[in-house]
Amino acid sequence: MRMAILSDIHGNLVALQAVLAKAESLGVEVFHSLGDIVGYGPDPGACIALVRRRVSVSLMGNHDAAVTGATLLDDFNDFARWAAEWTASVLAPEDRAYLAGLPYIFRGDGFFLVHASPFEPEIWHYIHGIAEASPPFEHFPGQICFVGHTHRPFILARDEGSRIVHDQAGGRLRQDHRYLVNAGSVGQPRDHDPRASFVIYDTTRGEIGLHRVAYAVEKTQERMRAAGIPSFLIDRLAVGI
Ligand code: ZN
Repeated sequence: MRMAILSDIHGNLVALQAVLAKAESLGVEVFHSLGDIVGYGPDPGACIALVRRRVSVSLMGNHDAAVTGATLLDDFNDFARWAAEWTASVLAPEDRAYLAGLPYIFRGDGFFLVHASPFEPEIWHYIHGIAEASPPFEHFPGQICFVGHTHRPFILARDEGSRIVHDQAGGRLRQDHRYLVNAGSVGQPRDHDPRASFVIYDTTRGEIGLHRVAYAVEKTQERMRAAGIPSFLIDRLAVGI
């Protein structure tokens, strides 16, 4: 079975639609979301509706938590705080209730899902790369943990000797390795590549792949302008920062 793991949609409906279509064309049957459905983007309500329709497991992200009041805005920068407050002001009560009810983790058959880190999921630790990856590897069951949060995709593999390396190619999983996989961001990539990012996990073949899909960035930017969203948040989408 092919499943797609999506993260950090951030209210970008055009990007979400492009990812769903691309993943389906690649034979994906099941979708999971690692959270941050909302925040920054112009269509939080429509993204929640589409996630509810199409996604099997939907997890809590720090922006979802902020919009519902479950996470304080103290750790947010000015733009993130503005976005959380704007999102909260435009969301319907039932959408806010949906976000408030999202779980922090999901334990699948051989894999584990969480927004930021399997270590203290509700604290939202950042895992930027190998330097921060050792503790997280101790805190999930099974072979693979999928995360998002940094908006930068990666595949880290740890061998039996606890050595962690980057595995940018993906492909066939090695049975004597464990994996920490960052799905990147659907709606606001920050690795200088503006294309939407997602991961496909083929459970039958035991394969993992990072995927990118171009979408009509200018359509999302138009919607943001119409909503009065700050230009910094609009401009960054075109360059992927
Ligand atoms: Zn995010």
